[in-house]
Amino acid sequence: MARIPFICGNWKLHKTIAESLDLATAVKNAVGPLRNEVEVAVAPVFTALHAVAKRLEGSAVAVAAQDCFWEAQGAWTGEVSPRLIRDAGATFVIIGHSERRQHFGELDAAVNLKAKAALKADLKPIICVGETERERDAGETFGRVRAQLTAALDGIPASEAPRVTIAYEPVWAIGTGRTATPKQAEEVHAFLRGLVGELWGADGAERLRIQYGGSVKPDNAAQLLTEPNIDGALVGGASLKADDFLKIVKYRHP
Ligand code: PEP
Repeated sequence: MARIPFICGNWKLHKTIAESLDLATAVKNAVGPLRNEVEVAVAPVFTALHAVAKRLEGSAVAVAAQDCFWEAQGAWTGEVSPRLIRDAGATFVIIGHSERRQHFGELDAAVNLKAKAALKADLKPIICVGETERERDAGETFGRVRAQLTAALDGIPASEAPRVTIAYEPVWAIGTGRTATPKQAEEVHAFLRGLVGELWGADGAERLRIQYGGSVKPDNAAQLLTEPNIDGALVGGASLKADDFLKIVKYRHP
């Protein structure tokens, strides 16, 4: 079964509402003709989410939030629920990004609660996993991503496979300019797909998309994205400039 590649720009803590709208418009205008060959999303900051979703309504570009809480509502100052993210017009949510794990102490159990809450609210989760440099050097890469993915998918049935995306993001490659080689990335992607097969069966593993993230740029995107188990990219720095992001989106048309 052919999986349609999925490329998501993670804008992190960048851009005002006006700047977000400019970038969203440029992406929207260029992505329209490619709508059958690649799925594209952008993830603005929360304050720009609704405005960007309105601007992209009916276009080939979807909107993702960068995080969510797991409760729907209540006394949770500062949190944003999947239901409200959906209400703002997003259809995806990034969960368990390494920056949240590293700087905000987000644990595997929280990632699992968030993923389940997102699906319940009709939001498609992009669940991030990846090893640190120390873990890679110690030969712990596969053990680490196995633990993260098993915990993240706990209690989620195989029938959700078409709505779930995994992002393999080696922490040492995020924002550092150091990219995993296509061989290094493909090795972990194949391992993750095998693990999804153990958890969800062969059909679930075939359907689920696994993005690579970590310094994806216009000049390395095609090599990474043509590996058999790499089904797209989660792009940080290079998604902030329309030209760079669009070159990645158009990796099949250099
Ligand atoms: C990310 O934010 O998920 C990411 C991969 O960032 P960068 O592309 O800048 O490494």
